[in-house]
Amino acid sequence: MNKNIAVIEGDGIGVEIIAEAVKVLKKIAQKFGHSFNLIPVEMGGCAIDKYGVALPDFSLDACKAADAVLLGAVGGPKWDDPTARVRPEQGLLGLRAGLGCFANIRPAKVYAPLAAASPLKDSIIGKGFDIVVVRELTGGIYFGESGREGDSAFDTERYSVPEVERIAHAAFKIARGRKKVLHSVDKANVLESSRLWRETVARVAKAYPDVSVINILVDNAAMQLVRNPAQFDVMLTSNIFGDILSDEASQITGSIGMLASASTGEGTRGLYEPIHGSAPDIAGKNIANPIATILSVAMMLDISFGLKAEAQAIDNAVDSVLSDNYRTADIATDGCTVLGTIQMGDLITERI
Ligand code: NAD
Repeated sequence: MNKNIAVIEGDGIGVEIIAEAVKVLKKIAQKFGHSFNLIPVEMGGCAIDKYGVALPDFSLDACKAADAVLLGAVGGPKWDDPTARVRPEQGLLGLRAGLGCFANIRPAKVYAPLAAASPLKDSIIGKGFDIVVVRELTGGIYFGESGREGDSAFDTERYSVPEVERIAHAAFKIARGRKKVLHSVDKANVLESSRLWRETVARVAKAYPDVSVINILVDNAAMQLVRNPAQFDVMLTSNIFGDILSDEASQITGSIGMLASASTGEGTRGLYEPIHGSAPDIAGKNIANPIATILSVAMMLDISFGLKAEAQAIDNAVDSVLSDNYRTADIATDGCTVLGTIQMGDLITERI
């Protein structure tokens, strides 16, 4: 298979973690006989310094022309002034919108060897935690009308039927490939937009009779996630509810450096990135955990390219390294061997 992959290092640890993910991609290409053409793309604080904008047009064009985009992270103290006219996050929003990525897919999983890192008690996390949050990414209150009137301010949550339908289809397809249980999160007891959400999900559900749908109110979902997380498998959410619940889910795993994400649209092209930021506090020290970015590569191979065996080979290599008690500093436990970013990348690559 021949694929073009736009690769954005970004800022901070972005450079270091992408280097390890690229090693893994090259090993997969060599082992399975594929050709991945890696196209370096500039975005984030580094692009602001050079071009005065976070996402120059030619960077977006390069990403649109690619089959998939791999991103490290952007941002850092140098560009963190909230009143600044240009900010690194504008690159992220511009890229997601420019690629038409309306579905954000965030798996959150506790790897058995890392269960002790979870802040939840053994009696709760011991039952297992392996979920996927499917969050609507381009609608809802973050994109609705907002403003100020006198001494008040407002933001508007608005969803259309087609917007809910397309994210629901994305979630049902994922649920179908897993445990066939979908929790649709809303606040239908209060919000009209949530009532539309619930009605639309019920209609879409008719096309997936093998998947059970459970409607759950967002406040209950937040509570149940820490009370009995094992009951969930796929959670479908609006933009704002998903923003909050996916961060809650990530904390249950206890290891932010392990979590990958995908953002997809209508076609097969997707944007793949770790959920963490550019971690300026540890940048340039060879201590960042590259696993979230390496697992983002696995998601890319699976979701955009349909290369399931290749994605599984990466997952297995990560499992094997963790089972043998190798860790980066952020997930270190008693008696483990602590590796640097480069050494962890090398070991995972070697085990593929
Ligand atoms: P962060 O995720 O960068 O860091 C939070 C904490 O987690 C830090 O202590 C950091 O050292 C640690 N951490 C994060 N990733 C790690 C890894 N791979 N290995 C080991 N430890 C890791 O969040 P923050 O500190 O709030 O933000 C730092 C910068 O990143 C800010 O400029 C922010 O705007 C930006 N940011 C970017 C993205 C993105 O590019 N998608 C997302 C979130 C934050």
